[in-house]
Formats: sequence, structure tokens, C-alpha cells
Amino acid sequence: MTPKKIKRLIVLEQAQSTNTVLKEMCRRGYAGFNTIVYTENQISGYGRRGKFWHSEAGKNISVSLSLQGFDGDELLSLAAGVFAVEAVKAVCGEGLPLSIKWPNDVLLGGKKLCGISCEKIGGDFIVLGIGVNVNNEGFPKGLEDTATSLYLQTGKNWDLVALRDEIVARVFAGFSIDILDKVRQYCVNIGQNVRIIGEKGVIAEGKAVDIAVDGGIVVLLSDGTKKNYYSGEISLR
Ligand code: ATP
Repeated sequence: MTPKKIKRLIVLEQAQSTNTVLKEMCRRGYAGFNTIVYTENQISGYGRRGKFWHSEAGKNISVSLSLQGFDGDELLSLAAGVFAVEAVKAVCGEGLPLSIKWPNDVLLGGKKLCGISCEKIGGDFIVLGIGVNVNNEGFPKGLEDTATSLYLQTGKNWDLVALRDEIVARVFAGFSIDILDKVRQYCVNIGQNVRIIGEKGVIAEGKAVDIAVDGGIVVLLSDGTKKNYYSGEISLR
């Protein structure tokens, strides 16, 4: 993934979902590669397999970017996690306990700070969506134990646009050669015992031992064999 020039930044007062808006624009030819759609008021964002992503007006950021498909795009969700981690560190300080949970979450103090959604659409487009909880003072029932924000961790309010710009700059700078090392460095799953959950429940158990060059997670199964799993098929617990 090579450096890209931003074509257009579209700031919306509100959006159902920045990914949905940008996908539609790309499909209709209203937007090309390297366009950004941004809002601070996302009404019905979503993550993997359409799972709801909670937003609170004016408190968090939702940014989507249209990228051209490239070799190695399986790594994009994880790379986006690294970009988000580095952007948060640049804005809020190096010392924050940030990590990446395979395949698409950024954690702060072990709780979810960012959601990342990566969708391939026709015409070689990839729409990458990143949601970050910034100044949220709390979360609705069901999320309060698992979600966090930069405000909850640091006790301070942060500039939403500064954080957006740091994330966008990193995505458009592209992957550096050491991106996989960075993913491995931040990935919390490596070394953990994991359950591989398929559509019908647990399909295997083992220990996550590595991230493969193509973004799969390498699991040492209880029968001693190693197997790579991919985010399209499974969840980890
Ligand atoms: P999980 O994180 O539960 O393993 P996942 O990675 O497949 O699942 P995503 O699609 O990344 O899930 O994100 C959606 C999930 O994140 C929701 O099901 C909900 O549990 C949680 N969630 C929703 N909104 C937020 C938010 N603003 N902050 C943190 N977590 C959220």
C-alpha cells in the first residue's frame, strides 16, 4: 500500500453510517478512491456482520475512507488498528495502554476504544470505517463493562478533528515494511488461549501464537497442529 493523495474530505452534520454513505457514493460514481466521509453524529453505525456500533452525537468520531484494492489488503483491518493506536498516542500521549484485538478492535486498558470495519465493494473499492470513542462520559447498558473512551481513561476532553486528521494521515501514508511487526507488537491475542467460534458455535480451541503475513491468526490447536483462521469466518473468545 503506497502513499495516497486525499481527494476529498466530506464532513456531514449527521449520517446513518459513514461507511454506508461512502459506499453508495463510490457505487454511483459520485466519489473516487481516497475520499473521506466524516461525522461526529453517526445514527446507526455498524461493525462486522452488521453488528450495531454505538455513537453519541458530538462525543466520538466516525470516519470512512475509500481505498483502491491492493495486494495484501487482508491486513488492512489490523493495519488500521495500528494507525488508530499511533494516532491516539500522537494526540493523547505515548503512555496510554493501547492494544489491538484480532481482527478489528483497538483496546484501551483492555476495553474497546475503536471499531474498524473493512468492506470490499465492486470496482476495486475498499471502504475502511473507523469509529473512536473520544469524549464519551459513559456507555449504555450492555456496553458499560466492555467499552471505554479517551475521556474515561484520561479524565480529559480531546479534539475530535485533531484525532481524525492523525488517523487519516496514517491511512493515506500507507503500510510501512514493518506493519506486521507492529501488529504483532500490539496484538493482545498472541500467547492467549482462544476459542474459535464459527456460525454454529465453538469449532476449535487452542493458543494464538502469531499473526500470519496475510492477516490470519495462527492458532496452535490442542492436537498439536497449527492452523490459520480468517476474520470472515470466525470470532475469537
Ligand atoms: P466483539 O468485539 O464483540 O468480539 P466484533 O469484533 O465482531 O465482536 P465489531 O463489529 O468490531 O464486533 O463491533 C461491534 C460490537 O462492539 C458490538 O456488538 C458491541 O458489542 C460493541 N460496541 C458497539 N458500539 C461500541 C462502542 N461505541 N464502543 C465499544 N464497543 C462497542
